[in-house]
Order: sequence, then structure tokens, then C-alpha cells
Amino acid sequence: MSQSCDFAVIGGGIVGASIAWQLAKRRAGRVLLFERDVIAAGASGRTGALLRRHYSNEPEAMLAQVSHKVFCDWPHTVGGSCGFEPAGIVVTVDMSDDNASNLDRMRQNIAMQNRLGIESRLISPAELKALQPFVEVSDLKGAAYEPSSGYVDAIAATRSLTQAAMRVGAEVVESSPVRGLAIEQNRVTGIITDSAQVNAGAVICAAGPWTNTIMASAGIELPISALRVQIAIVQRPLELQDPHFVFIDTAAGMFTRPWGPGRSLIGLGGGDQHDPVNPEDFEVRNDPYYPRAAIAAAGKRIPAMNRAVYLHGHAGLYDMTPDAHPILGATSIDGLFVAAGFSGAGFKKGPAVGIGLAELLLEGQTRTVDLAPFSLERFDDPNWNRPWSETEYTFSSDFGHKL
Ligand SMILES: Cc1cc2nc3c(=O)[nH]c(=O)nc-3n(C[C@H](O)[C@H](O)[C@H](O)COP(=O)(O)OP(=O)(O)OC[C@H]3O[C@@H](n4cnc5c(N)ncnc54)[C@H](O)[C@@H]3O)c2cc1C
Repeated sequence: MSQSCDFAVIGGGIVGASIAWQLAKRRAGRVLLFERDVIAAGASGRTGALLRRHYSNEPEAMLAQVSHKVFCDWPHTVGGSCGFEPAGIVVTVDMSDDNASNLDRMRQNIAMQNRLGIESRLISPAELKALQPFVEVSDLKGAAYEPSSGYVDAIAATRSLTQAAMRVGAEVVESSPVRGLAIEQNRVTGIITDSAQVNAGAVICAAGPWTNTIMASAGIELPISALRVQIAIVQRPLELQDPHFVFIDTAAGMFTRPWGPGRSLIGLGGGDQHDPVNPEDFEVRNDPYYPRAAIAAAGKRIPAMNRAVYLHGHAGLYDMTPDAHPILGATSIDGLFVAAGFSGAGFKKGPAVGIGLAELLLEGQTRTVDLAPFSLERFDDPNWNRPWSETEYTFSSDFGHKL
């Protein structure tokens, strides 16, 4: 490998692959993607890959919407398959007396999504029951329903995006951890691997919860921490033979989606289910309590799920920021950019983030999506923690991230 490139992208998850593809297909010069293990070795290989577009703030809804178009049209735009299944997504939030205003917030959030072109509507408990007769709705006053949203096969999608990047000239180097950044006079000049120093015109760090390990060599510490989160795969009883909707069910404290014939993925909500960990050393197997707890949570919405049988599961990492929104764009070092801190909700945004970063890097500004709200500088504002909209939900329990 020659020792210089125009763009060095660090991290072969959905975000790094998307950035590399968008840069390479714009003929941006030599693009190198460095992955320390194999493509999708991080959260992108352990995710639920539920592609909701329901957000209570417009910037993130827009990222989800722009990405959705890419996922839908994958065979034509990317090539290959991402396994997109438009199964329909139902989002619930607690609307009990303590959080009664959430019903009106949901109404307004759906109106905002509709303005962005997102197909979504508020459905009553009776309508949900008519659509999915096996669900329990007595705790609900309404839910958001996105008929054309769904999920993808995350590993297939990430690998397919990487191969698309390679087809237009990006070079992908697996098993090549970036050990540090070369900096001269407050400008990044390249990256350092075990075998070489590679000069780069710009460096984009998309290394999820490992971002700070890399940034440390530039004297930067980003507000990103690693949170361990588990999912379980179960086999459903025969009466749940047909695939169910995707449920992002903060009211029941769980999310679930079909996972191949007769099987479902279940993840638990609730901050207490998530552990802050060292990203270099965390338990990837389910904790012993987890399968039973996940099945019980899914059983609150789909009672027959109480008879589901646990098959396998794993833990992965959320790269959490203090406000649970990602950090996208420039850093204090010239030529050094970051796309990390997705806080457990980044898969659905990956394609749009690639477009936005490529526009920013090549044109100096974004056209397709607005990345300004995601700047690192927002944390300099003493009020950085204010909600991103007046319709942000109030939660009795969250998923580690907001909606
Ligand atoms: C259990 C779980 C469920 C989730 N469910 C959803 C969901 O339903 N919907 C959704 O949208 N999001 C979900 N997420 C979040 C989503 O998966 C992530 O936000 C997204 O995959 C992040 O992609 P990424 O490319 O930024 O990071 P990653 O996929 O983590 O990629 C970072 C890459 O950097 C590599 N790397 C690290 N250090 C170095 C180095 N020094 N040199 C080179 N490479 C390095 C890693 O090996 C890794 O491959 C979930 C996450 C988890 C853990």
C-alpha cells in the first residue's frame, strides 16, 4: 500500500462504510477505510437494525428518512441486498396520568414526520388490535404506526455497503487497527497503524465507542462513553407463526422484531438494564437473568410471547453522548472529523450520515441533511442539555436513548 491518501476513514461499521462509499463514488481521490477487526465487528454486527423514523426532533427524523430511501432502494442504489423488510413499526410511549401529555406530543411528532414525507399515523388501541390481534392494548391510549418502516439484516447491509465502496475505488483494510493520529501544527496529517504511517488529507473517525482511544493521540477527549446493551433471539410459539410488526415499545419497556421464520429479537428498555463498561473488555454473552426478563417484557405486549423459547443472544455497545445525540462533523483539529456517539440509534442513520459527511468534506457544507445540530461545539453551550424540541417525550423509563 502506498503511504498516502486523500481520505482515511477509521471504523468499518455502517457509518464508516457509508462515508467511504459516498466519498469514493464522488471520485474524491484515494479513500482508505481502516477496520481493526472485520467489517461490522462493532455495534453494526450486534444491532437490532430496527429502522424507525419516529423521532421527536426534526434533525434526527430527517437522517432516518434520507437513510430509509437508501435502504428501500438498495439493490439499485447500493447494489446487492441489505435484507430490508418493511414489516411496519409501532412506537409506544407511556401515556398514563404521569405522562398524559405524551399523547399530544405524539400527535405533533407524527405531523412533523408527515411534513418530512414519512408515512406515519396515530392509531387507536382498537386499530392496533385489529392489525395485530394477538397484542395487549389495555395500557395504551394511542401508538405511532409507520406501515413502510421495518428492519434490515445489519451485517449484510454493512458488508454490501463496503463492497459498493470498493467497486467505486475505495480500499478497505481489515485487521488493521489505527493506533494513533499524526498531528502537525493543529492539523491532522495522517494515521498510524502497526505497519505504517499513512498520510491523509483528512481523517474521519467513525469508530463508535472506541473513538476516544484514537482521539487521545490528538489530545482530544469527546463526551462518548460505552454502554453494554443486550438482545435475545427467541423462538415464538406456533400461534405466533406469522411475522409480527416491529415494536419499539417504550411503554412495555422492550423492542422486538422478527428474526427469520418463527423467531424474534427482543431487547429490554430501562436504564438499569444497561452497564457502562470498558469498550476493550466487556462480556459479550447474555447475563443469566436476561432471557427470562426479555421474554417477560415482550409478553406484556404480546402475551403468547411468554411461551417463547430462548435460543441465543449477545451484548453490544452503545456509544453514548451526554444528550444521546450523535457528534457529526469537524473537531478542533483541522482536517479531523468525527461521526460517532450514536447512542444506540445509529444504524438507521448510517446512509444519511455518509451523504452529509461527504458533502461537508467535499463542498464545505451539507445540502441533503442538516448536520449543524450535531456539532461537537454544541456542548460548549451551557444549555446543551435542553430538549431538541418541545415535543420530546417524558419517560418513566427509557432505552438509554430518547425517541
Ligand atoms: C444491542 C444493540 C441494539 C441496537 N439496535 C439498534 C436499532 O434497532 N436501530 C438502530 O438504528 N441502531 C441500533 N443500535 C445502534 C447501532 O447499531 C449503532 O449506532 C451503529 O451500528 C453504529 O455504527 P458505527 O459504524 O458508528 O459503529 P460500529 O458499528 O461500532 O463501528 C465502529 C468500528 O470501528 C472499529 N474500530 C474500533 N477501533 C478501531 C481502530 N483503532 N482502528 C480501526 N477500526 C477500529 C470497530 O471494530 C468497529 O467495527 C443498536 C446497538 C446495539 C449494541
